[in-house]
This record gives sequence, C-alpha cells and structure tokens, in this order.
Amino acid sequence: MQRKIIHIDCDCYYAALEERDFAELRGKPVAVGGTGPRSVLATCNYIARQYGVRSAMPSSMALARCPGLIIRPARFEVYRSVSQQIRAILNQYTDKIEPLSLDEAYIDVSDSSWFSGSATLLAEHIRQQIYQQLGIRVSAGVAPNKYLAKIASDWNKPNGLFVVEPSSVPGFVMDLPVQRVSGIGQKFAEKLAAMGIKTCGDLQKWSLPRLVQLYGKSGVWLYQRARGIDERDVGRQGAAKSMTVEHTYETNLETLQQSEQEVQALYRKLSDRLSDKTTPPLKSILLKVRYADFKTQTIERNWALSIANFQRLLRVKAPRSEQSIRLLGLGVRFANETPASQLSLWPND
Ligand SMILES: [Mg+2]
Repeated sequence: MQRKIIHIDCDCYYAALEERDFAELRGKPVAVGGTGPRSVLATCNYIARQYGVRSAMPSSMALARCPGLIIRPARFEVYRSVSQQIRAILNQYTDKIEPLSLDEAYIDVSDSSWFSGSATLLAEHIRQQIYQQLGIRVSAGVAPNKYLAKIASDWNKPNGLFVVEPSSVPGFVMDLPVQRVSGIGQKFAEKLAAMGIKTCGDLQKWSLPRLVQLYGKSGVWLYQRARGIDERDVGRQGAAKSMTVEHTYETNLETLQQSEQEVQALYRKLSDRLSDKTTPPLKSILLKVRYADFKTQTIERNWALSIANFQRLLRVKAPRSEQSIRLLGLGVRFANETPASQLSLWPND
C-alpha cells in the first residue's frame, strides 16, 4: 500500500514565539540563547541568518556578525505549551503522530479521508490552521515515507510546502546530494565524495553486496535511501532513539580531574532524565567532547550504563589533552534504532 506521510516543522520555532509574543522584536534580528561569555544560541530568526548568524553558534560570534542582534533567554514553558497546542491540532486529523522535538512531527495520513484523501491539501490546511490559531509559521513536506517527507519540509522553508509524489521519487533522489540524507553527517559525506559519490544517483551505482561489504548493516540502509526507500513506521509514541545531555563550560576544562568531575555532574543529569520514563533497553553509551579549537569528537561503545564506563570513555579521549575542553556531552542509544546511527553518531541539531 502506498503510504502518505507529512512532516511538519515550525520555522525557527523559539525565535518565532519570541516575535509572536513581543511585538517590539518584529522586523529585527532575534535569537534565543544565553549571553554569558561561553553561551551559544539555540536558534535565531531569518533576519539574523542574513548576517551569518546560525543555530548553535557562540553568542559572542553571533554578536560580532550582527551587533544589533537581540538575544532572548529561552522560555521553555511557553515552547512546550505551544508544542502541545500544535499536537492537539494534528490530533484532529490523525492519531498516528510521531513527535521528533517540540517543533517537529511526522503524521501518517495514509488512511485519512480529509480533502478526499489528498495529503497535499491536508498539509496546506494544517499549515494555515496552525498559523491562524497559534501565530506560528510551519513548513510541511509530503511524501510516501518519513525520510523523504523530512527532506521535503526543508525544501521550501520558511513557510513552505513541498510534495514528493510517489511517481517522482526516482527523479527526486537521482540529484539529491547525499548530505541531505538524514544520518549522513558531514564527515561521512566527505568520505563518499572522495569515492566519487555526491548524489543518491551516484550512490545507486554501488551494488548492495559492495555496500554491505563496506558498511555492514548500514550498507543496506544506504542502498535503500539512495533509491528513496524507507519502511519505518510513524511511531505513535515517538519512541526516542537516544538521549543526550551536554554542557558548554564558561571556562574551558584544563585537566582530566576537572573533566571527570563534570562527567559526574552530567551523569546525574542523564540518570534523572532516564528515570523519567520507562527506559527501553540500551544499546550503547556515548561521550561527546568539543575541544578549544571547536573540533568535536564522539565516541560510542556498547558498554553498560555506569559512571565508571563514562569515565573510561573520557580517558580514551583524554590523550588529546593538550587541548582544553569546552563542551562535554553524555548520551545513551536505545536498542530499537536503525543502523543509520552507525554513520552519524550524534544528532546534528
Ligand atoms: Mg524547526
């Protein structure tokens, strides 16, 4: 059966809510984040982006690029409550909803009879309804699967709609740059480019046995994505694939001892989050380190969840200790995940 999946993604969500709620911000470059010397931005609006400001950029760098930038502290209670309102709107049309974050969700409308079964008209209707009721601009992508729907929602951003019809899938993926494939990070894209693979069309020239030989299970995944195939269901509960906590330090961590202390603090935070919910079985634990020169490394092992094991991961990374550390992150990956994770070890943003 041909599925119809819509991916809904709010446009610079946090910043959009600041502009919605504070009229004096409209028409100005606005970001949400911290203003301390080591703070980073969570997000920024499109006016700020014209100055080269980006999500996850240090606030000091953002202000250097855009001196008029207004940086607002995050108001997560508001972001969460509007997210629930968006969820309630989506729920009017289907109960097959998989939230990815506060401002993003997949819905499966394969069985929907709204608009005579047109997912395109339904997606446009939902975009209008969210704007009229909540004052938030939303982009949407419509496609036969989650992978293509997510790419499609980004295609005409902001405030856009893009549809990948089942019949246009082969043509669409042919020219699709591999870094558009969720799970192919920048480093892996560079490796593929070195092999002459820049688009999914290029990737299609590699046989399944060859890809499996090179990348194991992920080879199957690559083979499918190159052809626009993705059979993952839209999960009603939005089963989390991983959970991570991280911190950017006001002052770089200079010694292993300092880093070990911070790993302890982060471990407590991670444990708190994990005990919030019934935790599925874990597949691996991860440690992320960003050094003073902004180089970032992630290490993942299928070790049990324990403070001692995170300290072990830290010591694997410690030999590079001529560099002080500006960010540490701890995470776990749940066992119910696709092999895609083997290529991109940490969620991008
Ligand atoms: Mg968004």
